[in-house]
Amino acid sequence: MKFISTRGNDIAFNIDDVLVKGIANDGGLYLPKTLPQFELTQFKKDSTILDTARILLTPFFTRSSLIDSIDSIIDESLSFPIPSVRMLDHQNRWLLELFHGPTAAFKDIGARFLASCLSRLNKNQENPLVILVATSGDTGGAVASAFHGRQNVKVIVLFPEGKVSKRQEKQLTCWGDNILSLSVNGTFDSCQSLVKQIFADYSLSERYRFSSANSINFGRLLPQSIYYAHTSVKHFKKTKIKPNFIVPTGNLGNGLACVMAKLMGFPVGRIILALNENRLIEDYLDGAEWETRSSIETLANAMDVGNASNMERLISMFGNVEALKGAISAKSVSDKSIKEEIKNCHRSASIVVCPHTATASYIYNNLDETSKKNHWIIVATAHPAKFDEVVEPLIGTSVDVPNELELMLNRQSQVYNIDPTMTDFINIINSKLD
Ligand SMILES: *Cc1c(COP(=O)(O)O)cnc(C)c1O
Repeated sequence: MKFISTRGNDIAFNIDDVLVKGIANDGGLYLPKTLPQFELTQFKKDSTILDTARILLTPFFTRSSLIDSIDSIIDESLSFPIPSVRMLDHQNRWLLELFHGPTAAFKDIGARFLASCLSRLNKNQENPLVILVATSGDTGGAVASAFHGRQNVKVIVLFPEGKVSKRQEKQLTCWGDNILSLSVNGTFDSCQSLVKQIFADYSLSERYRFSSANSINFGRLLPQSIYYAHTSVKHFKKTKIKPNFIVPTGNLGNGLACVMAKLMGFPVGRIILALNENRLIEDYLDGAEWETRSSIETLANAMDVGNASNMERLISMFGNVEALKGAISAKSVSDKSIKEEIKNCHRSASIVVCPHTATASYIYNNLDETSKKNHWIIVATAHPAKFDEVVEPLIGTSVDVPNELELMLNRQSQVYNIDPTMTDFINIINSKLD
């Protein structure tokens, strides 16, 4: 399969280059030249998500050196359940639980797929591949967990000291081995700036090969299409109705994966992107300019993104905003409504949702009555136990912690503190990375 950059000046002839490089040579983002098309008859009523994954992924791996490893890559990335659960209070509403992985958020799926591919692709290289992740919370934990103990790859996680929750910090620092965790005396922006400067540092790039694992890497997006494909096919075969999806959205990786599943022929109905107070996507679809906005801190902190980088992909796929509006809509939800919705879900449906999932659930509850007659799947992106500090005071009781998260919380932390300077950053890499 061929991939082209959204900016039109770079082509990759197989997925291997796309995964290793992360970003195209012209600064754009890679997309398949054409998306493969699938028919419902290719999927059986009783097929598992692993079966769906194999059928969906195969065309993307033509001419890839990984083609014979697809089954192992799938097993390693989707090794936990992804159930679609009917909610008791409304007949037509389901919750797609993407949070049963090791770090209790949907990012586990993309991160594990990428780790599985990259460690194989880097097998015969002399210099180790070093993955850099600047994180404000969820991404770093998923990436560290996915790459921990893998051969041929090292990871450096940078997070702003004192600005992540206790449980998030534990997920970023409980590793050691091939994971180097750095707390930086600065903001998320200073972490990101250090990462950018390292890419440009010639002295280090002779010893290490640097890459990035944030959601501009196509390898994070592609595996996310699998759960939309699988859930929509299952749902349609059972009910003959295409389900609509409401997707909590920040950088637009998960939402884009849903759009890709629809474009590949899977029975996906309407797609609504649920935003927090960072509302640029909604404003843009309403006619505003795509402009640089700084992010606003909200209760759904993994969605605190000013400019969603994957919008570049959507615009490139649809050509213009008008066409895009035919495929998606977006709605911003305030912190006040997030709180209300967490309480409401607990009271009326006896379920506890995380602040991100609450944005999607709130949008469902505010649909008009006609729309509510259709089938809706609310995408649950994280386990509420990860956000206990927000959720527990609202519902007045404690949230059970999943086993894997519990194990992680009990591990020893290993973390180094640095100032946000290149001198500190390079010193720590030189002394700790080998
Ligand atoms: C990252 C994240 C999101 C946003 O997903 P994008 O792919 O960046 O749009 C939503 N919810 C949770 C819990 C997340 O960790």
